[in-house]
Amino acid sequence: MLGGDLAIDLGTANTLVYARGRGILLNEPSVVAVDVSTNSVVAVGAEAKRMIGRAPDHIKPVRPLQDGVIADYDVTAEMLRYFVRKVLRRRGAFTGPRIVVCVPSGITSVEQRAVSEAAYAAGARKVHTISEPMAAAIGAGLPVNQPAGSMVIDIGGGTTEVAVLALGGIVASTSVRVAGDAIDVAIVDYVRAHFALLIGERTAEELKISVGSAHPGTGPKHAEIRGRDVGTGLPRNIGIAGDELRAAMDPPLTRILAAVRATLDRCPPELAGDLVTDGIVLTGGGALLRGLDARLEAELGIPVHIAERPLDSVVLGTATVVEHFDQLHKVVVDGHRR
Ligand code: ADP
Ligand code: MG
Repeated sequence: MLGGDLAIDLGTANTLVYARGRGILLNEPSVVAVDVSTNSVVAVGAEAKRMIGRAPDHIKPVRPLQDGVIADYDVTAEMLRYFVRKVLRRRGAFTGPRIVVCVPSGITSVEQRAVSEAAYAAGARKVHTISEPMAAAIGAGLPVNQPAGSMVIDIGGGTTEVAVLALGGIVASTSVRVAGDAIDVAIVDYVRAHFALLIGERTAEELKISVGSAHPGTGPKHAEIRGRDVGTGLPRNIGIAGDELRAAMDPPLTRILAAVRATLDRCPPELAGDLVTDGIVLTGGGALLRGLDARLEAELGIPVHIAERPLDSVVLGTATVVEHFDQLHKVVVDGHRR
């Protein structure tokens, strides 16, 4: 591919852009601040995320991909255009790049079309899409072209993708709309139900990252939570045990485990045997949840490894396709023209 061509991980939580021959040039939250009084975009990415909770009422933060696919096409297209321009501006002249963008494996053809259209609207000359678990597996260094089976679990903000890969293809996959965001929401719900305390999703996410753990004996034993009393509306602090926080996070974790089991069930026995020896690789921000690897190992009886750079795996795998397009075009899902 020509210089300036881009690999994009259009994630529900974070968007990363890699430029051919240059590396990852952009890594920003997939957030857009919209002025609802004029219906115009005020800020994008890190700047928009900083405005959350600080901006006047008529400015609303929007996560256009929240559930893993394009929930709001116009805002997604604006966001992508902004990110692509930001990256290309740095190398001077703007000539339409070829763009490889990854999409969730459970995406419908209409949704896939919307992603492609958004990339064309951002100025692409040609758009290709690659399935997210394939990108994650390549980025995590799994031998996807070998006859032996590999399994990758990519846990992002909005979706979890589970896939078994062999001989350059996806043998079995499951995509569920349960991932990091659902864990945050589960914490919010639990704290409200058990402590009559209101906390925001950002607070819940911070709690998950600083204290949360998926397996006994792997996290801090205690945490303080600051919130607002449901009854009085006044600020109140509570203490929560590490075990209790784990119980709060359990429903979404159980659903993720069910998706992994369902994928293993559909995996041909020969490949399942490979997984027992080579193990499963975790990618995405959710891979960083304390004790998740131990929990999966304990429940599945299969070794589980965390990718070296879980938050970058998908963009790095997509970048590999950009760098070696001719050899790897087979793994590209589609390259239809407008
Ligand atoms: P996406 O691909 O959907 O944009 P990412 O792979 O960037 O998502 O992961 C974002 C998710 O990972 C968020 O839900 C975030 O809370 C979670 N996350 C990031 N770091 C950690 C951590 N250290 N522990 C637990 N969860 C984390
Ligand atoms: Mg992702």
